[in-house]
Amino acid sequence: MTSAPFEYQKPESVAEASRLLSRYGGNAKLLAGGHSLIPLMKLRLASPDALIDLSGVSELKGIKSTGDGLSIGSMTTYHELESSADVKKAAPLLADAASQVADSQVRNFGTIGGAVSHSDPAADVPPVVLALDGVMVTGTQRSGREIPAERFFRDFLTTALRPNEVLTRISIPKLPANTGTAYVKMANKASHYALVGVAAVITLGSNGVCERARVAITGAGPYTSRAKRTERILVGKELAPNVIRNASKRAGAELDGMFNEDVHASAEYREAMIQVYAERAITAAVAAAG
Ligand SMILES: Cc1cc2nc3c(=O)[nH]c(=O)nc-3n(C[C@H](O)[C@H](O)[C@H](O)COP(=O)(O)OP(=O)(O)OC[C@H]3O[C@@H](n4cnc5c(N)ncnc54)[C@H](O)[C@@H]3O)c2cc1C
Repeated sequence: MTSAPFEYQKPESVAEASRLLSRYGGNAKLLAGGHSLIPLMKLRLASPDALIDLSGVSELKGIKSTGDGLSIGSMTTYHELESSADVKKAAPLLADAASQVADSQVRNFGTIGGAVSHSDPAADVPPVVLALDGVMVTGTQRSGREIPAERFFRDFLTTALRPNEVLTRISIPKLPANTGTAYVKMANKASHYALVGVAAVITLGSNGVCERARVAITGAGPYTSRAKRTERILVGKELAPNVIRNASKRAGAELDGMFNEDVHASAEYREAMIQVYAERAITAAVAAAG
């Protein structure tokens, strides 16, 4: 199938991209890697009047290592994430999750900005940004704002971005000492999207007790979300296998029974598997922290 006709714009700054978004009054789409947007347009599930190509906006590119962590331009590709020495050192979880996305063709085009802005319920990078307490930095013609990941992902394909806002960078704070991380997923055999996936970030105290836990899930519900009941069970305890198993049983609790169901997996199967993958992710993160 082919897309409906559209105009093409190629701004050179965030301000110009935002001005174009305003000009088309909500009927334009920003184009990053195009690996989610173009298929939707070909299926005519999206028919924007214009595409605003971000590839000429240099301020959206590059990975900067700051004293406090990483600042990652929204147009950074998965391939750049998985091969960056700075990302591997400061946020190995992000490099690892990026390396698990699809295949090299998709990883060479798909961007971190496109991934989080699209908020696909089965995407790999959103739960990782959520578990790492990432912050989305946006820009418009006049100003910008910072949106913590926890307030960014709102619903199925829906984020806190306003119609004229461009996601410019994603800040990933430095991990506390004695922190281990892991991302594991049950991948769809064809696309590699997560049928279920879990990102875990676990910080242990010097006595081996869990001081801080972040567990974020993908694939199971309408959008990525934290498994806060699981996190609460973990904090303050020594993470023996039975404690991790009990906590993992609550990994889908916040979804209130609203598990995704499609030709690939039933709701019941996703409910069961999110517990199994939570246990695996937390166990691996604890081992890495130790
Ligand atoms: C065959 C195939 C397999 C895939 N498998 C996986 C997989 O295993 N795991 C996975 O996680 N993903 C997978 N994907 C999706 C892929 O990762 C997409 O590239 C990604 O989700 C979107 O990134 P993009 O840069 O291509 O964004 P685009 O498709 O260009 O844009 C997506 C959306 O985000 C908006 N947007 C983009 N950039 C910005 C910005 N800076 N500010 C505001 N809005 C913005 C766009 O307007 C659009 O609405 C797959 C895709 C394909 C085609």
